[in-house]
Amino acid sequence: MSNDRCLFCRIASGEISSKKVYEDKDVVAFNDINPQAPTHVLVVPRKHIASLDDMTEADVATVGTVLLRAADIARDLKLPAEGYRVVVNTGEAAGQTVFHIHVHILGGRNFGWPPG
Ligand code: AMP
Ligand code: ZN
Repeated sequence: MSNDRCLFCRIASGEISSKKVYEDKDVVAFNDINPQAPTHVLVVPRKHIASLDDMTEADVATVGTVLLRAADIARDLKLPAEGYRVVVNTGEAAGQTVFHIHVHILGGRNFGWPPG
């Protein structure tokens, strides 16, 4: 269920400190240590899933809850009026550096498209 060598499992359990903005029995959300926008929050499931590419049918509820909580958190942070971006980097070439699935919530500035 969780991986004791995984950074985000250790943050979710509280073993490694973070600036948490939300937590419940399924997910933990905390400020990114290297923010790429005025608001940059990561939402992670407590369950260890290495990446979107590792998601299975058994993870549908877990990952769905992560997205639903991301929307709730964005609303709490008043992001919908100006728009915000949700990113799930998948694989090293796409910029994934932590192999525990997570949703980036980015807000507070304009975003270009296509992304870099
Ligand atoms: P990704 O590159 O999509 O795998 O995203 C991993 C994110 O985790 C990056 O934006 C990092 O800045 C962030 N990060 C790494 N270590 C920590 C930490 N200890 N606390 C909070 N965010 C972190
Ligand atoms: Zn993990």
